[in-house]
Amino acid sequence: MSARPRILVLSLGGTITMTPGAGPGLNPTLGAAELVAAVPGLEAVAEVVAESPARVASPSLEPEVLAGCARRIAAFDGAGAVVVQGTDTIEESAFLLDLLHADDRPVVVTGAMRGAAAAGADGPANLLAAITVAADPAARGLGALAVLNDEVHAARRVRKGHTALPSAFASPNGGPLGVVAEGRLRLLARVARGPVLPIPDGPLPPVALLGWGMGEDGRLLAALPGLGFRGAVLEAMGAGHVPAAAVEAVAALARAMPVVLASRCWAGPVFTATYGYPGAEMDLLARGVLPAGLLPAAKARLLLALALAAGTDPAEAFSRAAR
Ligand code: ASP
Repeated sequence: MSARPRILVLSLGGTITMTPGAGPGLNPTLGAAELVAAVPGLEAVAEVVAESPARVASPSLEPEVLAGCARRIAAFDGAGAVVVQGTDTIEESAFLLDLLHADDRPVVVTGAMRGAAAAGADGPANLLAAITVAADPAARGLGALAVLNDEVHAARRVRKGHTALPSAFASPNGGPLGVVAEGRLRLLARVARGPVLPIPDGPLPPVALLGWGMGEDGRLLAALPGLGFRGAVLEAMGAGHVPAAAVEAVAALARAMPVVLASRCWAGPVFTATYGYPGAEMDLLARGVLPAGLLPAAKARLLLALALAAGTDPAEAFSRAAR
């Protein structure tokens, strides 16, 4: 038998590892070795090194855990890596790994929408597809990817768009990069890599994430500096707009810390040069706010925190990464 690619599988928890137990509902119980053992046909695809750095639901994952994964992947002497975790934060973890992974080997994040003991559990199929992609030389140079439901998504584009369906993941800006069919990666498009930032040594600087709604005047913003926040991301309306009544609060915050303007829309860029009314993107950018480009707010928040941790100018980081 020819040498199979060595693939590192790091399991962090999530529904893919969850089973009904003594307590209420699903909880993470399985580790990487058990997940790998449940995948038929895997031995033909790769030689797997299985490790379980965490066993948590993904809303409780900390960026430091992903930084630890990035460090472990950098030290691993194989062809690629798969990170298995809860789907709630896959879009953030994949983006973090994309920003922290410096070499060309594929890093693939996957999970499952149905628990390990559920009828039609999607975990084994997702794990097999993820390992298939991580083992394929065609996936080199693409940074981090998310693979679920046999679709391959770029880390910076992927979003969780449904609370329940196995087809929950989508790339609203540009579509998936490819599919896994007949056990093979079919790559349909490539993305250029974004910037790579240093793997942080400790906790990331706190960055606030604030959604916006009709009639909000932004009075909450004045509290952020006193709460220890080092930056803020505004999930604004439309192409990057807040009510006129909130402009002064946004401007004052932008004088105190880096403030990034993202959109609560599902797709499309934050504008920079179209609307000039009070509270519109041109008004806010003129007051020192930075546009998030195509990045959704949760990813913009991680980029800002990593840039602050690295001592990189946030404006420079966003101009390179927010495509
Ligand atoms: N709440 C779960 C988690 O993110 C959902 C999942 O894994 O699909 O851990």
